[in-house]
Parts: sequence; structure tokens; C-alpha cells
Amino acid sequence: MVPTAEHYDVVVIGGGPGGYATALYGASAGLNIAMIEKGKLGGTCLNVGCIPAKELLETAATFVHVSEAADYGICAGEASIDWGTSLARKDKIVGGLVSGLASLLKSRKVTVLDGHGRLHAGKTVSVSGGASGDVELTAEAVVLAPGSVPRTLPGFDVDGKVVMTSDEFLSISELPKSAAIIGGGVIGCEFASLLADLGAKVTILEALPKILPGLDQDLTKVIEKSFKGRGIDIRTDVKVEGHAPTGSGTTVQAGGEGLDVDVVVVSIGRRPNTDDLGLDGTAVKISDRGFIEVDEGCRTDEPRVWAVGDAIATPALAHIGFIEGIIAIQDILGEDPTPVDYEKVPWAVYTRPEAGFTGLSEEAAKEAGFDVVTQKSRFNDNGRAMIVNQPEGMVKVIAEREVDGRAGRILGVHMVGPWVTEQLGQGYLAVNWEATVDDMASLIQPHPTMTEVLGEAMISLTGRPLHG
Ligand code: FAD
Repeated sequence: MVPTAEHYDVVVIGGGPGGYATALYGASAGLNIAMIEKGKLGGTCLNVGCIPAKELLETAATFVHVSEAADYGICAGEASIDWGTSLARKDKIVGGLVSGLASLLKSRKVTVLDGHGRLHAGKTVSVSGGASGDVELTAEAVVLAPGSVPRTLPGFDVDGKVVMTSDEFLSISELPKSAAIIGGGVIGCEFASLLADLGAKVTILEALPKILPGLDQDLTKVIEKSFKGRGIDIRTDVKVEGHAPTGSGTTVQAGGEGLDVDVVVVSIGRRPNTDDLGLDGTAVKISDRGFIEVDEGCRTDEPRVWAVGDAIATPALAHIGFIEGIIAIQDILGEDPTPVDYEKVPWAVYTRPEAGFTGLSEEAAKEAGFDVVTQKSRFNDNGRAMIVNQPEGMVKVIAEREVDGRAGRILGVHMVGPWVTEQLGQGYLAVNWEATVDDMASLIQPHPTMTEVLGEAMISLTGRPLHG
């Protein structure tokens, strides 16, 4: 028997950041929303992404902090790791956020369906295979937010014990003594930093000439120096050829050399999860690379169907999913939203030291034809950075050179250092509002804070440094 279709203002397929932001924001605007999720509410971010990764990185940070306790005159004895407790804490935080999200959706009266959603002609959406049974929904508008899954590498079959992706790594039952991380992007570098801080011997194998693409070269050097100082072996321009299990681990072949490790973490990016979305009888297009094709307003080629998050070819970040969900709803409401400027997206990297960047690096600005003035201001003179014992790193501001030679519009703010992921917001506002160096230099930075380094960079660019 075909069930009677239920009708909604908006049906959302996928309950990760892109999907749930669409649902929550739409419900806040008074729309009647249904959201379909086939796995766990919160998607990659809450369950196998941002949150568990940052929680485990905090375990590593705490371990380092306790190991340095004697410097503060605290006698804490020798720090040791109870990994099971750390995993349990991570699971508790994830569980709390997932159930909090479920409550929030309920309180906003979003109908959440458990099952696989597929879009068909006439904005009909079928749901099947989950606890909600077989259901058919119709909608005034549909938002596709099926997200992404880890990319895998031929010859590296994931067994979750020796070869793993981020999905398995984030629940690894035992800490390895050695690891090869294939891929030196954000996730690979975060995992390398985490494992090295917990005592593992880590090798990063990166095919490109540089780790952390997008981050200004001067700042990448700071990360590399810190990583190397902690024993992380960074091999760039290297081709991974395969691996041969050894019983207790495996030997990875890379660049003609063998590398014996306990585990391999394949961290070579993510691919859009768009294989089974239905789409029969619709004009929604999937690109050769698997992304749902959209215009700058996240609209697909099918009228009144939008797509957001990792499934479209925009930066694969939770906060990009959030903003795209908001834009889709504003567009559904006919509010003519401002498209996202993807050149200025803030990126946060939770390595030790942390990195954060928004806007152009010096290299990218020059490539784009800008004449630039830059300033590097360091954390090693900053009181708060010294107090927290993390003086390594710097803030680099990239500004457009005015005709009179002075620094003008801010094109990029790139940072490496203590808690810079918490400081990046100011840089993002400056770059996104196209503030000038003079605008920013006139603002007060509270003292003693680490953001004084950003303030120092700005005031230095006016030609009159204060402390620097
Ligand atoms: P997803 O989170 O992948 O959610 C999609 C959801 O849709 C899934 O739950 C899936 O089950 C469901 N789904 C798919 N198809 C269907 C269907 N047909 N029917 C029903 N349900 C369906 N980003 C940051 O911004 N900051 C970070 O610090 C950060 N750290 C990360 C660390 C790691 C280890 C990883 C892997 C990712 C990290 N990310 C981070 C990226 C971030 O997790 C993703 O960008 C974000 O989750 C994408 O949101 P999404 O809603 O597009 O997709």
C-alpha cells in the first residue's frame, strides 16, 4: 500500500550540519520542516568529525599541559594516559550534543524521520529502510544535504585495526606506538599532532609539495618546525605505493622506501555522498566528481531544490554547511540572500600549535595580481602567550598596497599560535568587511590577551609599531 504523502514547506535530506542548520533556521522562520537522516543526527561533524577529533586533541593538550606542570611549581607526578577514559569522555560529549540536537529539533517542531531519503519528480521524497518505515513526503521546497564520506586509497583496504580512515581512527581502542598518516591536510595534520603529543612516532606522507594547503607558507613553516621538533617526520612530494602487513602492523611503501608502522590513517579528503539520492525525473545534476551542481545561491537545476554542505563543491567545513543552510532558507523565503564569498572562509586547524586563516595568503595574493604589504607579529613577546607557556607562532596580515605605498585593505589574516582558532573571528570580520589596516589599528585589544598580537600587526602596518 502506498502511504498518503505528508506535505511540508521544506523537506531536508541529511541531518548533518548542513541539513540540521537548514531545518533549525527554517523552523525559526516559521516553516513546517521535515528532516530525514539515515544514520546518526549531527552527521559527520558531531559523530565522526569536528567534535570527536577536537575532544581527543584536548586529551593530548591536557597531557602536554600536565607534563609541563612542574614548570608552574605544580607537583603532579609523571603524566600517563588512560585512553579508555579519554574515549568514554569523547563519547559522552558526542552523545550529549547529539541528544541536545534531537531536543532542539523537537522543540522547534521539526519532524525528524529515520531512513534513507530519495528525491523524485514533483518534489516528492521517499523515505525507507529506517525506523520511520516507508513514507512519502511532498514539499514546496527540498534541500539536499547528504554530506560526504572519507576517500579511500586503492591497495589500502580499511580494516579498522591497521588501516583506517578518520571514522575508525576516532574510536581507536589502543594508542599506536607508530603511525603513517597519508595526507597532510587539516585532518591529517590534526591526527599527526595528536598522536605525537601522546607519544607515538608519526610520519606524514603528503603527495603535494606542502602540508596544509591554503595556509601562508611562512605560517606553514612554523607548524613544520614545531612538528619536526616533536619528532614528526614530514615527507612531502611523496607517492604512496602500497603496503604489506607484518602481523603486528604493516610496512608502507612510499617514495621507494619501506616504513614500518603499527597503523596507517588514510586522510586524503572526503567524497560527496551522492550515489543514492534518487533524483529520477528531476533536473538535479551530479558532476563528474560526484558533487551536486548548484549556482552561487546553492540552487540546483531543479526548481525549488537546493543543495548544501559537503555534497556541493564548496569548502568541506561544518560552518560552511551552516551558512549554506541559512542561505537556502532565506532564498526559499524570497529574501534575496548574499551569496557566500568562498575566498574569505575562515579555516581553523586544531594542531599544536593551532593555525587559522581567512582570505588570501601572501602567495595567493601575489598570484591574484595584488601588490601587497605584509606584517608578521610574533607571540613570543606576548604576555598571555608566555603565561600559558605557548609562545610559538605569529600572526601575518596581508594587506593591499595603496598608491602612496601604505597598507590599505586587508586581504588575508593567517595565524599560527596559542588558541588562534579562537582569535580568527576578528581576522574574518576584517577580511570579510574589507576593513583597512587603519580601521583595524584604531580598535582596542583587551590586555593581556593573545589578540594583542593581531592588534600589533595592524598598528605596525600603519608604520608606527607599539611593542613590535
Ligand atoms: P555530513 O556531516 O556528512 O552529514 C550528512 C548526513 O546526511 C549524514 O548524517 C548522513 O547519514 C546523512 N545522509 C546522507 N544521505 C542520506 C540520505 N539519502 N537519506 C538520509 N540521510 C542521508 N569541519 C569544521 O568546520 N571544523 C572542524 O574542525 C572539522 N573537523 C573535522 C574533523 C574530521 C575528522 C572530519 C572527518 C571532518 C571535519 N570537519 C570539520 C568537516 C565537517 O565534519 C563537515 O564539513 C560537515 O560535517 C559537513 O556537513 P554536512 O551536513 O554537509 O554533511
